[in-house]
Amino acid sequence: MIWNEPIETMPRPDLAALQSARLATLAAYVYERVPFYRKKFDKLGLTPASVKDLHDLPRLPFTKKSDLRDNYPFGLFAVPMDQVIRVHASSGTTGKPTVVGYTRQDLEVWAEVCARCFGLSGARPGDMFQNAYGYGLFTGGLGMHYGAERMGLTVIPVSGGVTARQIMLLQDFRTDVMACTPSYALALADKLLEAGVNPADLPVRVFILGAEPWTDEMRVEIEAKLHADAVNIYGLSEIIGPGVSNECVEAKSGMHIMEDHFLAEVVAPDTGELLPDGQVGELVFTTLTKQAIPLIRYRTGDLCSMTHEVCICGRTHARMSRILGRADDMLIIRGVNVFPSQIEAALMGLEQITPHHRIILTREGRLDALEVAVEVTETFFRHVGEEMFSGQRQQGIGDVQALEAHVQQRLRETLGLNTKVTLLAPGQGPRSEGGKLQRVEDRRLV
Ligand code: AMP
Ligand code: ZN
Repeated sequence: MIWNEPIETMPRPDLAALQSARLATLAAYVYERVPFYRKKFDKLGLTPASVKDLHDLPRLPFTKKSDLRDNYPFGLFAVPMDQVIRVHASSGTTGKPTVVGYTRQDLEVWAEVCARCFGLSGARPGDMFQNAYGYGLFTGGLGMHYGAERMGLTVIPVSGGVTARQIMLLQDFRTDVMACTPSYALALADKLLEAGVNPADLPVRVFILGAEPWTDEMRVEIEAKLHADAVNIYGLSEIIGPGVSNECVEAKSGMHIMEDHFLAEVVAPDTGELLPDGQVGELVFTTLTKQAIPLIRYRTGDLCSMTHEVCICGRTHARMSRILGRADDMLIIRGVNVFPSQIEAALMGLEQITPHHRIILTREGRLDALEVAVEVTETFFRHVGEEMFSGQRQQGIGDVQALEAHVQQRLRETLGLNTKVTLLAPGQGPRSEGGKLQRVEDRRLV
């Protein structure tokens, strides 16, 4: 179902007019209320009155994650704290988190865009919704929670992890829709089989998966294993949380951006220049309606492309591709740009190995080296024998060596790079425990 039909199917010229009006209001709003932006505008010789419509967007300054950090915790807020009724923080792995706030109206908008995401995913009022996104400072849990309530789903606020309990709920509460990270969906599929539960017997129709990068190959595997649709949802706390964009289940081909609230651009990461449809670059958002922490041209660091092609679902809002990598977590190995997603795509579909793998960066002499540790299947493990993985294995034995070489060759074809490949016993590969999965291990500095 299309949750907000007038908005989601709005003719593009009308949408552009709405965006233009909101952009002009936003410029005046931040100039008035956020000293950080007033200074930036003054420096560029921009007055609020000079921002009239979308054509003025490229003249506006970028905002970076470091700007939020530098103004930690509440320095970019545009309203007094008594109007901020919720805060969240980003899951940043290093240093202080980036903190965001919400007014009552911001929370209204957030519930609205998340309700649209449920509609996009094929959920319907009355569905049983198992929310396995983490509740807490992370935006995932509460964001999806209020969106589901807005649509009229029955929310099971189970939060992340504790797989045995997730399985019990899936069975006993007859879950129709579940949200979690894609890596957790894979781990769940394995655990279901281990527990002797056939996913085909569960009523769950759709998994809404996001918060971390995944691939189409992974979707094929998740859908096959879980006997359900898997759709991609995207968001980031700086912009609102989940609900920035979501695939429609009809096309599963790019995520419709909630463009009436979030103005999207794709720019060249180095020059900041606007890129046309289809070209991969850094995704940039301007929040058109946020009150507590409005952001202008925020550099997400996420790499993707965009399309304005008409979609079969009838929605007119532009679509962004999957996130293909991060402008800043792109690995550069001996001059070759490598995205973890490429490694994942290369490994998917290979026989005898599972999707669970670790990417390890090491240094050999003065050169960076890449090691990929991949987990083998139970069948392969039993076939070659446990002692192969006990640490005392003799190098180069038959099937083990052949599989390593095979994986290595596949990676060489995809990445154009020689990698070291090691095999892990079943269960030894990294798995999500509910939250975001940390796949890359950088041992170059230790
Ligand atoms: P946070 O603000 O902590 O929720 O983190 C937001 C970041 O998570 C985004 O900038 C993306 O890098 C990542 N992310 C969220 N959803 C997706 C998705 N569907 N695919 C890939 N990356 C995602
Ligand atoms: Zn669509």
